[in-house]
Amino acid sequence: MDLTYTPEEEEFRARLRQWLGKALPTLPAKPSPDDWPGRRAYDLGWQRMLDDAGYAGVHWDASPTTRLIFLEETERAGAPYVGANFVGLLHAGPTIAAEGTAEQRARWLPPILRGEEVWCQGFSEPDAGSDLAALRTRACRDGDDYVVSGSKIWTSHAEVADWCELLVRTDPSAPKHRGITWLAMPMDAPGVTVRPLRTLAGSAEFAEVFLDEVRVPVANRVGEENDGWRVTMVTLSFERGTAFVGEVVACRRVLGELARTARENGRWDDPVVRRRLGRLNAEFRALWRLTQWNVSEAEANRGVPGVGGSVFKLRYSHARQELYDTAAGVLGPDCLDLDRPWTLDRLSSLSYTIAAGTSQIQRTIVAERILGLPKGR
Ligand SMILES: Cc1cc2nc3c(=O)[nH]c(=O)nc-3n(C[C@H](O)[C@H](O)[C@H](O)COP(=O)(O)OP(=O)(O)OC[C@H]3O[C@@H](n4cnc5c(N)ncnc54)[C@H](O)[C@@H]3O)c2cc1C
Repeated sequence: MDLTYTPEEEEFRARLRQWLGKALPTLPAKPSPDDWPGRRAYDLGWQRMLDDAGYAGVHWDASPTTRLIFLEETERAGAPYVGANFVGLLHAGPTIAAEGTAEQRARWLPPILRGEEVWCQGFSEPDAGSDLAALRTRACRDGDDYVVSGSKIWTSHAEVADWCELLVRTDPSAPKHRGITWLAMPMDAPGVTVRPLRTLAGSAEFAEVFLDEVRVPVANRVGEENDGWRVTMVTLSFERGTAFVGEVVACRRVLGELARTARENGRWDDPVVRRRLGRLNAEFRALWRLTQWNVSEAEANRGVPGVGGSVFKLRYSHARQELYDTAAGVLGPDCLDLDRPWTLDRLSSLSYTIAAGTSQIQRTIVAERILGLPKGR
């Protein structure tokens, strides 16, 4: 791929930079991590500002290079992250764009872009995480509806979501990968109960979701009945391949700040700290190049990223943990202070090697699908 910028791309960058300079000072104060209604309003408000300015669809419609410029510039300017819009913008929406019907795209995509509706992901269950195809939430057809019963766990943003990308078992007699269906479930449907789970960092980022005879219209099925595993692979390829891309830019900024802090507080004199910072710099530069490659490869495949997403997810999640461990080394005892920058990020970085598929699972995917090693049991 060509990594140089065209005059049009440079113009896009300049226009965006100018708009960010004007727009960011008008943002309200950031809500506290526990204020979910406030977080939802803040994240949707930012999405609406992007939509009004013509930037909302950049993750979906723009060329890979333009998308990467958008991420670089928004991060450089300190713009808000996608937040509660993570699932809708970065994997449910792209899945519907790739796999949904024209009616489904018209119903669900514009409200995501306009910052009107939040999505969550109902994939994992208490006994179906790494082995996602073991999921048991059952959906039985009844006229024009599926009647869904079961439970989901670790559902991020469930408390404030309007819709859930939900995996259900529609044919219990089929081999486990073949009896699954992908549904869009309204979170306000009768029978949906959300019970928040508190994390180590103190806030309730995710929840258990209990489903008791929830009626979901058949028209909300994305893909064919029992073809949900294939649709799930599309969702996961977006989640692993491109959803974390913006965070790589953020990590590169943190790395720069860490080096500055180390120079100021004397930790720079420690060769171990310098070596770790240098290695991380190389790692994040490599990850950025891998990102560019993945995004560009996706472009040739209906926008759907390939299995390279697992390489990215694996390396990125470990690099992120190492980054914040290094931050702790630079901060010294201050790293235990929850009000200091990077402390909460360090705690949450522990979840990155689990969320969106654990490192062990990514290694298996890389071994089998990229290196062509024999399949495990
Ligand atoms: C911050 C965060 C947010 C999340 N958000 C969501 C969400 O919004 N929606 C959602 O559906 N899920 C979400 N998840 C759940 C996540 O997808 C699962 O936690 C993950 O897939 C692992 O499943 P598990 O927790 O059941 O662990 P398990 O599958 O029980 O794994 C336990 C351990 O065994 C290892 N292991 C399991 N099987 C194998 C194997 N075959 N080979 C080698 N090692 C193996 C795993 O790597 C892991 O170390 C989230 C998780 C986190 C941490």
